[in-house]
Amino acid sequence: MAEEKELRYDPAAIEPKWQDRWAADPNMYAAEPHSGGKPKYYVLEMLPYPSGQLHMGHVRNYSIGDALARHMWMRGYNVLHPMGWDAFGLPAENAALKNNTPPREWTLANIAAMKRQMQRLGLGYDWATEVTTCLPDYYRWNQWFFLRMYEKGLAYRKKSKVNWCPECATVLANEQVIDGRCWRHEDTIVEQRDLVQWFFRITAYAQELLEGLDKLEGWPEKVRIMQRNWIGRSEGTDVEFGVENRSERIRVFTTRIDTIFGATSVQLAPEHALVTALAADDAGLREQVAKLLDEQKKAREAGDIGEIEKHGIPTGRFAINPYSGELVPIWVANYVLSDYGTGAIMSVPGHDERDFEFAKKYAIPIRRVIAPADPHADQSELPFISEDGVLVNSGDFNGLSCHDAQSKLQEIAKSKGFGEATVTFRLKDWGVSRQRYWGTPIPIIHCEHDGIVPVPDDQLPVLLPERIEITQQGGSPLSKVSDFVNVTCPKCKGPAKRETDTMDTFVDSSWYFYRYTDANNSASPFAPQTAQYWFPIDQYIGGVEHAILHLIYSRFWTKVMRDLGLIKNDEPAQRLFTQGMVIKDGAKMSKSKGNVVSPDDMVARYGADATRMYALFAAPPDRDLDWQEDGVAGVSRFLGRVWRIVMRYAPAARAGAQSKADNPQGLALKLLRKLHQTTAKITQDFEGRWHFNTCVAAIMELVNDIQAADAQLAAGEVPAPVMHELLQTLVLLLAPFAPFLAAELWDELGGEGAVLRQPWPKSDPGLVKEDEIEIPVQINGKLVSLIRVPAGSDAKAIEAAALAEEKVKSRTAGKTVAKVIVVPGRAVNLVVK
Ligand SMILES: [Zn+2]
Ligand SMILES: [Zn+2]
Repeated sequence: MAEEKELRYDPAAIEPKWQDRWAADPNMYAAEPHSGGKPKYYVLEMLPYPSGQLHMGHVRNYSIGDALARHMWMRGYNVLHPMGWDAFGLPAENAALKNNTPPREWTLANIAAMKRQMQRLGLGYDWATEVTTCLPDYYRWNQWFFLRMYEKGLAYRKKSKVNWCPECATVLANEQVIDGRCWRHEDTIVEQRDLVQWFFRITAYAQELLEGLDKLEGWPEKVRIMQRNWIGRSEGTDVEFGVENRSERIRVFTTRIDTIFGATSVQLAPEHALVTALAADDAGLREQVAKLLDEQKKAREAGDIGEIEKHGIPTGRFAINPYSGELVPIWVANYVLSDYGTGAIMSVPGHDERDFEFAKKYAIPIRRVIAPADPHADQSELPFISEDGVLVNSGDFNGLSCHDAQSKLQEIAKSKGFGEATVTFRLKDWGVSRQRYWGTPIPIIHCEHDGIVPVPDDQLPVLLPERIEITQQGGSPLSKVSDFVNVTCPKCKGPAKRETDTMDTFVDSSWYFYRYTDANNSASPFAPQTAQYWFPIDQYIGGVEHAILHLIYSRFWTKVMRDLGLIKNDEPAQRLFTQGMVIKDGAKMSKSKGNVVSPDDMVARYGADATRMYALFAAPPDRDLDWQEDGVAGVSRFLGRVWRIVMRYAPAARAGAQSKADNPQGLALKLLRKLHQTTAKITQDFEGRWHFNTCVAAIMELVNDIQAADAQLAAGEVPAPVMHELLQTLVLLLAPFAPFLAAELWDELGGEGAVLRQPWPKSDPGLVKEDEIEIPVQINGKLVSLIRVPAGSDAKAIEAAALAEEKVKSRTAGKTVAKVIVVPGRAVNLVVK
């Protein structure tokens, strides 16, 4: 029996045993009280959507986070490492429709299945802090936050354009519109409808969200760039053109006020108020505008409004340039959008690519008003886009640089009252209304008498009704539940109707990581002092696909909570790491490609340790990983080698547990050096570089060295205390990557307590430094000997050492050493005659 155990690594025997032990010990992965005096470390992986099955991308994400958490536990930190479920969303409704299972049941069953998978993988989460966003104990706080935001004017309603499927009678998300048609009704063209929707005023924080990015040095630069572009700040000028013979004014925004003398037309969106007014008594114009509007609508529906073929019509009216008094024609154009900016632009074809194209097409004058600053540059080519120029054909402003002209023209606009310097953002307010069932009900009541009435706090949560029919047709399912809809107005006590929109699920994920710190609080979303202890998150880990929406919304939410006085931090996460994708045969894993590798299969075949360790070993964590089953098998064989080595020498190691080796020499010293070098490398990697693939490779090298010395180890050439240090440290180094094997071997070595509670090994700088190096000595091109010299020896010292070496001495005896060539650190060549 003993013999058999010694030889065979069997994860199927080891892993379930430890799964049970860890599950039975609620303190195993629990955070400690804050009073413990340890430094805190909050490591967080993005919470999954409970689809029912972990995929390899999850396994990779969680293997990275778990290795880090385990390492930090061993470094003596008080670690918070939680997990939860982003559990609202449309798939649950689709499943309900398909399988006739209520969304809640479907979701909770999926959560249970995925939690089993996570436990099988040995991921060290504190399940006492688990957060499930579809349960009322969580979503009541979404409602509470909604009300606080409503009070502060940060939640509001407005009419906006939505994708509407007439067949579904509901709003579709952009992803549900495929080639302009409904994803469920291939023959139905999705319409654009104006609908009153709820919004969060994220734009109130646009500037702060932008500036905060500079301080997020622990975030990947690519994520910060994506957020900067998404926020899209541009500085410019709002300026008003008058309208000849009318009282209206046309407000335009331009980033290039310095080119305004080159404006040869003003272009309005078909829905601009002035167009409506002009068309009211001009049937011909009305008809043409309707056509432009229709083109615009179709382009929007096809999702390529940016690519629209530009059409326009002159209205026959003129706008007045506020600086020059020049009359320029007013056009209506299909590429100008009423919901972007002011719905009007000044067209400067001499200095703008798009305006140039339009002017060419309709023979609108093109005028140069900026000349290149460089006198040798081509003075005739238009459009000239650069701001490195001086004004020409611009009246009193001729000769000014673009930059100076901008400030000068802004000053004039301001003093004369027809404009001002402004900043605009690309960022739009966050539309949170969904005409869906499986989401957080918006805590608002509509009363004919009182208008919008917030649900009083003491009536929260507004519970999502459970037994309801989901048809995905005829609008919001909640609107058909009369118990839900018909309520008493909290103000006038008269009959009123509940809001039937639910919240975007990005609301759920905007603050879930605060709830982890105090998941069972029933009086508030979390206790401020608890959040203050844990925040900001020390390390957040997830996919780069969340670089924009989730990671901007959660930054916004943090700022709102700060302004509500709940927290003190400005940003949710100190450091962010975005791992690469897991691909197979060069393509993203997907059911349709048939290249999905199931984590369960891998665990069944090779064990959880090998699966996790492969996910870390196969590629640097920030790069894509091409899944190769051979590779998993290879890691499994490696763990088998570790198993056999430790089992074979465990008795010797245990014998050395109580003493320390004095002055180890030879093989013992060589192995200790390798051990301490490996420890130093892995420790350093955990501190920032995160090249876990090379960490695993370093452990493999160490194990190779031990294995290569097998005969000498068997002969007892290495003292027992060194064997003890060697094997015990090897197991500790493996613990973040292969926790099951490490736990088992720790026991075998007679280690006390859980491996996770052991201090992380320290490397001895004296041993880490390679203080002697070997240099080959050649005589007349033939290798004669190897000499050992202190690292860093100079050529003279190496030459002396070479000439003093016994074999060299005997080969040169009685001969003349004509020449000695030393390549320091590399080789010595003697030319002997
Ligand atoms: Zn449809
Ligand atoms: Zn009322």
